[in-house]
Amino acid sequence: MNCKICSKLLQEYLENSISEELISELNTHLKECRRCRIFFRTYSLTVTLSQRIETPCCVSSEKIKELTSLLHERLFPK
Ligand SMILES: [Zn+2]
Repeated sequence: MNCKICSKLLQEYLENSISEELISELNTHLKECRRCRIFFRTYSLTVTLSQRIETPCCVSSEKIKELTSLLHERLFPK
């Protein structure tokens, strides 16, 4: 497990579902890696918030996607 795989899995984990096995691998990596923890926390918060707001008054879902990918690029530069 590395950060790149981890960040991809986190997105899948939050958007769909991944196997138990992968979840436990994710958790192991998250325990060791601060960067992924920050990403996970911020990302899950963003997803939760965007789901909770039915009609966002100032933030569109495109904007949220934009912000998330920005965060992703910051944390995991290519
Ligand atoms: Zn990591």
